[in-house]
Amino acid sequence: MPDLLLLTRGSIMADNKHKILIVGGGAAGLELATRLGRKLGKPGLAEVTLLNAVSTHIWKPLLHEVASGTLAEAEEIEYLAQAHRNHFLFRLGRMEGLNRAAKEIYVSPTVNEEGKVLIPRRIFEYDTLVMAVGSVSNTFGIKGVERYCMFIDTIAQAYRFQKQLVETYYVKSYAGENSLKDKPLSVVIVGAGATGVELAAELHQVTRLLATYGLENSDRVNITIIEAATQLLPALPPRLSAATQQQLIKLGIQLKLGRRVIEVTENAVLTHDGEVFDADLKVWAAGIKAPDWLRDLDGLEVSGNNQLLVDATLRTGDPDIFAIGDCAACKWAGHTGNVPPRAQAAHQMATALAQTLVNRLYGKPPVEFVYQDYGSLVSLGKYSTVGSLMGSLMGTVSVGGFIAYMVYLSLYKMHQVAIHGYFRTAMLTLSNIFRRSTHAKIKMH
Ligand SMILES: Cc1cc2nc3c(=O)[nH]c(=O)nc-3n(C[C@H](O)[C@H](O)[C@H](O)COP(=O)(O)OP(=O)(O)OC[C@H]3O[C@@H](n4cnc5c(N)ncnc54)[C@H](O)[C@@H]3O)c2cc1C
Repeated sequence: MPDLLLLTRGSIMADNKHKILIVGGGAAGLELATRLGRKLGKPGLAEVTLLNAVSTHIWKPLLHEVASGTLAEAEEIEYLAQAHRNHFLFRLGRMEGLNRAAKEIYVSPTVNEEGKVLIPRRIFEYDTLVMAVGSVSNTFGIKGVERYCMFIDTIAQAYRFQKQLVETYYVKSYAGENSLKDKPLSVVIVGAGATGVELAAELHQVTRLLATYGLENSDRVNITIIEAATQLLPALPPRLSAATQQQLIKLGIQLKLGRRVIEVTENAVLTHDGEVFDADLKVWAAGIKAPDWLRDLDGLEVSGNNQLLVDATLRTGDPDIFAIGDCAACKWAGHTGNVPPRAQAAHQMATALAQTLVNRLYGKPPVEFVYQDYGSLVSLGKYSTVGSLMGSLMGTVSVGGFIAYMVYLSLYKMHQVAIHGYFRTAMLTLSNIFRRSTHAKIKMH
């Protein structure tokens, strides 16, 4: 519990409007805030506030492109501008605690890079609270992972990886004879889920682009993926996983399946069978969990990986607290497990909860959330896109090539439409096409 004497009230309006507080402005939270701002904030029916730990939003599935440098300019959205345009309030801050009896949350002091306190510790009051704080990488407590691996869960981490990648390239490229130049750059990615596989393909594309641009030795890169399971992309049908495997092998990416990582050191990754993989860069992409602090959130029940348990209306055990996106454990109707932590689930949850919260204000019953799985798609950069699409009429269909690429793209377009509307999304898409035709295809700074 924070020191109450240090707390200042973060609540903004003193009137009696119903206060909806959304914590986390990711794929789920930003879409929800935007919808509710338009529906309830604009006509003055409720005060909608979004609290987020950082000041800009990026759609997380783009992060592997930011990390590799192939997305030269990340499409970041300023929360303040988005809030102004869509009639909700944005507040910068990181939630750290909850008092359900008092209906308030605690927000840590906001500090700058030098550790100077910019905003003191605050309290925000709510009538309805929505938790949408996403997920973080799960290191499973393996020795050395936190210290020596890089992660790509946030934009800051993706930029850090990209910076280190560029610096390592320059060092290798300009090193003198008989020195580092003779030893190829080695990147080890732990985890052969969509993130690990997509990152490997993007990195491969980067090496080819740099060689085309004339950077010496830039194509001398060893990329290795280590995975504990015996199949990569376990979420996809075996046929697609096999096709992806062939494609990666064709690119020269080494796959070490059925190897459990037991330790990471400064220069290597060690597996259970005694193998040691030398690595200049090590990336951890071996699974996710909800943040640890959710385990102690004033008695709210959580799953084994810290997700807040919710019912079919996305409500936690507290009638005034809801959870959506990766941090919510919601039973998947007709299946044995929970709804998977994916962007399409976050999008659908935001849509359903927006309607529930509007209904709530009018005393109407909540909407039941039913997850529709439209399939899984994995992008191998410019090389290919593979996946399976699901439809009620066709059953499961395996797709690849251009169709798969267009469907993959449409997931992001759906997110953009939810937050910008159709017209602005079309304008953004056009301006991106023009910008990409004139800019370098890779970021080298
Ligand atoms: C590299 C990568 C590639 C991916 N590719 C795909 C894909 O192709 N398809 C797919 O379906 N899914 C993909 N995913 C998963 C997808 O991005 C997530 O399922 C989705 O973003 C979840 O949305 P969310 O809103 O729950 O969380 P997020 O989008 O992670 O948003 C959480 C937000 O909460 C904020 N926050 C966190 N803690 C606090 C706090 N204490 N206080 C205030 N704010 C806080 C964060 O700053 C963030 O803005 C990918 C993920 C990654 C990392």
